Amino acid sequence: MDMERYVNLAYEMGAVDALIVEVPEIVFDHRTYLKCAWGCPEFGQLKCSPDLIKPWEAEPLLRRYRLALLIHTHRKELANEIAWEVERRAFLDGHYWAFALYDCHGCDVCAASSRQDCANPEKARPGEDFLGIDVYATVRKFGLPIEVLTHKEQRQDRYAFVFLE
Ligand code: SF4
Repeated sequence: MDMERYVNLAYEMGAVDALIVEVPEIVFDHRTYLKCAWGCPEFGQLKCSPDLIKPWEAEPLLRRYRLALLIHTHRKELANEIAWEVERRAFLDGHYWAFALYDCHGCDVCAASSRQDCANPEKARPGEDFLGIDVYATVRKFGLPIEVLTHKEQRQDRYAFVFLE
């Protein structure tokens, strides 16, 4: 198994933590849809489009995978860059189903509701919470930090996933 190379790549790119997890260990909870649909201004953009998929449709697809890379950083942009690069390298290595999930930040404001509107379609990916992953419960299972932020100065713990095989 050559998955360690993706762990190493994530660390080389600046990850705080990077670990290969078994997909059955990832916690899904479709209540994420409630939090996305009512309360998040980004709901309905391409990166979080309920026209494309809903969490209860996404979960069975993601459960077809066996392993995922979990990436921890203190900056969303960095988590996204690492996840995208790992997906790219894994694909080129022959893991053709490799697929990254992250909070797409390709633009300051995502105005895309369709692929045609997207400014950077090759990098657009759905958010892991939008697809039904309970990020809080999942990362805590692996001993990683995450808290609800109550003011801007707090350190952020940002996560991204790459489903590998
Ligand atoms: S690349 Fe930009 S327009 Fe496309 S999904 Fe991401 S934020 Fe939205």
